[in-house]
Formats: sequence, C-alpha cells, structure tokens
Amino acid sequence: MPKFNENYFHLKESYLFSEIAHRVNAYTEKNPDKKVIRLGIGDVTLPLGSEIISQLHKGVDALASAETFKGYGPEQGYDFLRNAIVDYYHRNNVTLHPCEVFVSDGAKSDTGNITDLFDTDNIVLIPDPVYPVYVDTNLMNGRNIVYIDANEENDFLPMPDFNVHADIIYICSPNNPTGAAYNIEQLKKWVDYALKNNAIILYDSAYECFITDETLPRSIYAIEGAKKCAIEFCSLSKTAGFTGTRCGYTIVPEDLTFLSSAGAKISVNAMWNRRQTTKFNGVSYIVQRGAAAVFSPEGMSQCKMNIKYYQENAHIIMNSLTKKNISCYGGVNSPYIWFKCPNDMDSWDFFDYLLNNAQVVGTPGAGFGKNGQKFFRLTSFGTHNSTIKAMERIDKLF
Ligand SMILES: *Cc1c(COP(=O)(O)O)cnc(C)c1O
Repeated sequence: MPKFNENYFHLKESYLFSEIAHRVNAYTEKNPDKKVIRLGIGDVTLPLGSEIISQLHKGVDALASAETFKGYGPEQGYDFLRNAIVDYYHRNNVTLHPCEVFVSDGAKSDTGNITDLFDTDNIVLIPDPVYPVYVDTNLMNGRNIVYIDANEENDFLPMPDFNVHADIIYICSPNNPTGAAYNIEQLKKWVDYALKNNAIILYDSAYECFITDETLPRSIYAIEGAKKCAIEFCSLSKTAGFTGTRCGYTIVPEDLTFLSSAGAKISVNAMWNRRQTTKFNGVSYIVQRGAAAVFSPEGMSQCKMNIKYYQENAHIIMNSLTKKNISCYGGVNSPYIWFKCPNDMDSWDFFDYLLNNAQVVGTPGAGFGKNGQKFFRLTSFGTHNSTIKAMERIDKLF
C-alpha cells in the first residue's frame, strides 16, 4: 500500500473559494429568481487588450506553418519575453539580467513550487491574514509556520521583530487580502532583517501594477541589498487580465547565494533552474507572444486603462463604505477593499448576511487567517454596473 503524504490531512477542510462557491450555489439553488453579484474571488472581468489579442493571434498563425512552427520552447521562457520583462523592470529603475527571469504559468504555481527548494526544517514566517497558498503549500511539506500579526494596530503592515529568528519570510505587497502596501523604509527593514538572519524573502508583487502612490516600491529590488536575500514573484493575472490565459514570472537574482550544510556555495538561481527544467516544460509560445505584448507601449497603455477601470470601482466601494462610517483599508494601491464587519459580526456570518439580504458575495476575512476573523474583502474586479448595484444594495442594509 502506498504511504501518503499525510500532511495533507492537516490542511483546513476546504479551500476558501470552494467553500464560498458551495454556499453561493446552495443559495442560488434555493433562490433561482435572485440575482447574485460576485465581488468575492479576485478574478478580473474585462477582456484582454486588443494588442495582446492581436499578438496571441500571431502566435497561433506561427504554429500553422512549418517555417515558424514551435515545439518545446526553453523551460525558462523565450528570450523575447525574458528581455521584455528585463526592460519593464528597467523602466522602474531595477536592473536585471535575463537569466534571472523565469517565465511560468502563474504566480500561484511558483509561490507553491518554490517550497521544493527548502528542507522541512526551516522557520517560516507568514503574515496573518495572508494569501492561503503560502500557508497550505508549507503545511503540505510538513513545515512549521510562525505567524506574524497584521492588524489595525500596525495598519496591516507587520514589521520584523529582530529578536525572533526566521529562515523563510513571505511578503505580499500590495497585499492580498488587506490591500496594504509597504513603503521603501518599511521594506528596507525587512531586507535588513533578512540579511542579518541569513534568511530568504519570498516577495509576491502580483499587484504592483495597482500602485498609484509613486513613492511606493513596485519591486523589492528597489531596496538596496534585496538581490542578496529575495525572490520576487509576479504575474500577468492582475496586471493584464491573464487569470485565464496564464502567465507569470519569477525573479531569482544571481546574487542570491547561501551556504550548504557542507559549507559549499548554493546558487538559488541554479537550483530553481534545475527544479524548473526537471518539472516544468515552459509556457506555450502563443501565450508568451501575448505576454510580451503586455510590455509593449501599446499593450501596457491598454492594461493601464483596464486597471483604471477597476480603480474607479474601488473608489465607488470605498466611498459608499466610508459614508457608513466603516473605515476601509486598501483600495488605493490595490484592487481590494478590506474592512471591519459592521456590528462586530464574524466574517462568515457577515458573508451569509450579505448573501441572504443583498445577494452580494464578498470574501470572509477568516479565510485568510485568524486576524481576518472580523474583516471582509470586496474586490473592484466587477463591472461598474454590478459594483454600483452591489453598493446600493449594501447601502440599504444597515
Ligand atoms: C492573484 C494572485 C496571484 C496570481 O496568481 P496567478 O497564478 O498568477 O494567477 C499571486 N499572488 C497573489 C497574492 C494573488 O492574489
């Protein structure tokens, strides 16, 4: 009989979004006439920009003739895309080498797969509340997690405690679910902490494109020393609406080195390269053509128009909550609005209350960790119409 990885049994019973889907389905089955508005799962709704579509089509056409046909591509991504990503970082004043860029099918896979590189015996520091992928993938590997509180007292931006040691640190900024974003000084403290502890930072910048405050860092490599202690994960899912198209990238600097137990130099870049070339066969040529278009002037300006559309939704949500004296977090440098449930309600109770009385679906904060228990997340990824309608319904509620 095979022995299974029983760490899976320590995971919470259901992944957050399946539980939400389950409750919404149960409701719509009982109330087929009620129209539910979904501002829950962080999925985009606007179509891809026309420049991206046009390049995706060209990618398809290339496969139609023997001269331009593509089979297996480089596991790390085609040079044209790796270079486009290097240029993109350069425009934000970060210099990278193309071999530090690994193209993938998304940041969820990479933030999960990166755990392959680490021994079970590590102290993993994860903020609470947090994107559930970091927690569950470490639990699957049987790793111990130390949680660090993100709460109203620290504006949902926890800072390092130099008296506590960690080996692996997860940071997501702008944050999902709280929308909070670290500034340069705050992020520098984390880099200093990692360098002092010989730790590695796993930095998720999936929402960098939503930053409107130009003083905020859009990459951890805006901080001096970060190339010696951080891996950065990014994705075109939120930047360019690629949630269904699938493409992301991970930056593993060549300067990121540690010592093995035998005292030999470990290049994390070489290790990740080995991991990817062994277990991953690259993103489709077609998708990479579309992804490269995101970084062209035309493609980027179309992406920015879509982001602006979502930011208008964020304003609508924040305005209407603020009018009700509910203080919101996020929404400015993030597509997410995070707020305390009214009347001290528990977040799953508030979820049911909103679903039953306003037919609006949000995300209960409890799904992201214990500090989210009394909080709620709404996303700005809906249409203007549905967002306005949802907020009108909520407005009438309490
Ligand atoms: C949406 C999201 C991602 C992107 O995941 P993909 O697999 O690239 O779609 C990554 N990190 C966080 C925190 C997210 O919310």
